[in-house]
Amino acid sequence: MTTTAWQFTQEVHPSPATSAEVVNLLANPGFGRVFTDHMVTVRWNEAQGWHDAKVESRKPFLLDPACAALHYAQQIFEGMKAYRSASGELLMFRPTANARRFQQSAKRMAMAPVPEDLFVASVEALVKIDSHWVPEGEGSLYLRPFMFASEAFLGVRPSLEYVFCVIASPVGPYFKNGDSAVTVWVSDEYTRAAPGGTGAAKCGGNYAASLLAQAQATANGCDQVVFLDAVEKRWVEELGGMNIFFCMADGTLVTPPLSGTILPGITRESVILLARREGMTVEERPYSFEQWCADVASGQLREVFACGTAAVIAGIGRIRHTGGELVIGDGTVGPVTTRIRDLLTGIQRGRLADTESWVHHLS
Ligand SMILES: *Cc1c(COP(=O)(O)O)cnc(C)c1O
Repeated sequence: MTTTAWQFTQEVHPSPATSAEVVNLLANPGFGRVFTDHMVTVRWNEAQGWHDAKVESRKPFLLDPACAALHYAQQIFEGMKAYRSASGELLMFRPTANARRFQQSAKRMAMAPVPEDLFVASVEALVKIDSHWVPEGEGSLYLRPFMFASEAFLGVRPSLEYVFCVIASPVGPYFKNGDSAVTVWVSDEYTRAAPGGTGAAKCGGNYAASLLAQAQATANGCDQVVFLDAVEKRWVEELGGMNIFFCMADGTLVTPPLSGTILPGITRESVILLARREGMTVEERPYSFEQWCADVASGQLREVFACGTAAVIAGIGRIRHTGGELVIGDGTVGPVTTRIRDLLTGIQRGRLADTESWVHHLS
């Protein structure tokens, strides 16, 4: 258990959702549409540092129209989940890894870093007060810590004030078709991140820049977009919000390296460690779209999957691009993907032994 020096004032919601309403909402929450009763907020300024930590009713912010985040997008976020195990325990997966990445993102965006223990204490406080919103079974409570520049100032420089906030949303599967294989669109027009840019930071601006490509993917009947590198438009980088793995015929797993232009996914890192523990060879190396197509044609490439907190592990069955469509294997989720998904979700939900000490117990 984390012990923390951070004290939160607690303002319990005056009219929270009734238990009947919660049951109703948890029956089919979708993704990111339903929110719990509370939120956590903490403020930063130069004079006081992090202060005014609160658990309070979830409600709109009052923002000055000159609020820096609204103009210059000085903003970062995280995505993590709380689970309810079969025995009713509340679990989180590697929250300190999210805390550390949040600090790295803050650094890149010239923002005040949130101390690791404050970050973890904040998500814990929210999960505790809204614990009845953590679904049973295959659902989970998606946690969204985020921070934005709150100073009212139109000059271009790092803000002198920030708000750190955590909200929570009970969720079901990320993709509408649940666990079936998805189709991805490989964009040869738009890129996500360039060397020296913000690709490795979890900032809203990266997502804003990906939306048009994602809309193109949707228009082409695809679930997600795959981005190629910005320099040569040749090397596979990642999806709009997920990392990618290739399973070869010899059992090797290949994933693009953390070159600074892809997001260092905690799911990605966990998959690499689990696969190695299973005796698989994992190579972090550049992989070109050209090679991807050739390996599908030759049968060298057996499976492809994407991974991230929201979707966990999503099998990729088809790729589409301006030149046509390719089917990977028989177009369904393959055995390696299924095995890794079962291992990871088993650990996350407390069904399998937590051999790597990744699971954080809340109750
Ligand atoms: C959040 C994110 C991921 C996945 O990271 P996880 O820590 O596994 O959830 C991958 N790519 C991008 C662009 C992301 O924003």
